[in-house]
Amino acid sequence: MSADGRKGGGRDADVVVVGAGAAGLWAAAACARAGRDVLLLEKTPRAGTKVLASGGTRCNLTTTLGPDEAARLFGTKGERFLRGAFRGLPPVAVRGHFEALGVATVDAPLDKVFPASQRAVDVRDALLRDAREAGARVRYDAPVADVRREGDAWCVELAGDANRVDGGGEVVRAPRALLCPGGMSYPRTGTTGDGYAWLERLGCELIDPVPALAPLSSDAPWVHDLSGIAVQDAVCTLFDASGAKLGARERPVLFTHRGLSGPGAMDLSVHVARAHAAAVKRGAVPPAMRLSIDLVPTVDREALRARLIEAGRVPGRPRLARALGGELPRRLIDAACAQAGVPSNPPAADIGKADRHALVEALKGLDVPIDGTLGFDFAEVTAGGLALHEVSPATMELRAHAGLHVFGELLDLDGPIGGLNFQSAFATAELAARAAAR
Ligand SMILES: Cc1cc2nc3c(=O)[nH]c(=O)nc-3n(C[C@H](O)[C@H](O)[C@H](O)COP(=O)(O)OP(=O)(O)OC[C@H]3O[C@@H](n4cnc5c(N)ncnc54)[C@H](O)[C@@H]3O)c2cc1C
Repeated sequence: MSADGRKGGGRDADVVVVGAGAAGLWAAAACARAGRDVLLLEKTPRAGTKVLASGGTRCNLTTTLGPDEAARLFGTKGERFLRGAFRGLPPVAVRGHFEALGVATVDAPLDKVFPASQRAVDVRDALLRDAREAGARVRYDAPVADVRREGDAWCVELAGDANRVDGGGEVVRAPRALLCPGGMSYPRTGTTGDGYAWLERLGCELIDPVPALAPLSSDAPWVHDLSGIAVQDAVCTLFDASGAKLGARERPVLFTHRGLSGPGAMDLSVHVARAHAAAVKRGAVPPAMRLSIDLVPTVDREALRARLIEAGRVPGRPRLARALGGELPRRLIDAACAQAGVPSNPPAADIGKADRHALVEALKGLDVPIDGTLGFDFAEVTAGGLALHEVSPATMELRAHAGLHVFGELLDLDGPIGGLNFQSAFATAELAARAAAR
């Protein structure tokens, strides 16, 4: 140590990691295990706040999908960037890592993996314990304000100290800096997009951040009236005002008092957010959109038509709800009838050809008008962030800034619901840590 308390060469650590979230905890543990002196700086008084909140406090920590299938869910650019990371640390290895840390895991529907305890706190505690036991030092209440290069060191400056005469903050120096302060979703947890400004000052290209995995808002009162109704088997398709298809997802959807939630709606929300952000930038009115919900995805139009005709011939005059098998909630059937312009739950025998056609169309595509998302406050992740071409996909090191690695949600990466975003945080953290420890 030098006289000012620094280690040899004017450094405070071999590696400084900014942000003790999913990615930072993983990277700090991996670097420290490889023998590096690691200092992990966290803005808030605790680590892994989003891990604690994740999966409805159960933490969907990864997926049962294989690495290539999982990477494909991040879109063309994301897939190209993540393929190597996911092959290097496949979902099955993330699972194995947690099992080795004492967190047994279980499969769940829709390709999800949860801790067997169903407790997110077990995942967070395991990550933190792993980092500490490997020797990483964790410093809380240490909000980073800037990151810059001075000589051969990365200088990580903490927010200004009111007690200092110059108002400046303490500076931590290290030859390698790992930046993973997250995006700007759920800002109340501490992620307020701080990293974007540091990267901008370093001359890096940023893709405008927009909320992703957010509930959708609708101003239609009939939608609010269906609040609480979930459609487990639904295919959701998002269309813009011109009728162009923006995306589709076969996932459950939930009606809420503000619009739509559930994975079917949230997975598509990024398209709504992007279109709205683009309109705001142009000073234009945000575009109208609609989410079309196929309420009976396992029955095609022809078979549905045949079923209604057949029900019309059955003695006892069964009504529409019974003809459909009695599984769809009545209020939802009424909404489809209203969209089709037919009376509520009519006897099947009374449904004429034109009405039958309109009903089949409404059941195969109940149109919910969408006017936006609930924004960053309710978004599970941030789409946009550091442009991927700035980063080496093998090491997460910035191409223009040797020794500086960026990973996790700060990157322009966002996957759908299902453990994919933790998978991305862990896999990119692993590559950054391996490179930084070399
Ligand atoms: C409600 C909710 C539920 C979710 N559920 C799931 C799920 O079940 N499965 C899944 O895969 N994904 C889920 N996600 C997404 C997942 O939480 C993120 O993808 C993941 O946490 C990103 O990891 P990260 O380490 O990059 O960022 P974060 O986990 O956000 O960590 C960033 C850390 O950096 C700290 N920080 C920020 N600024 C500074 C600064 N200036 N100085 C120092 N530290 C700073 C923050 O306080 C935070 O601790 C969920 C998200 C939310 C909000």
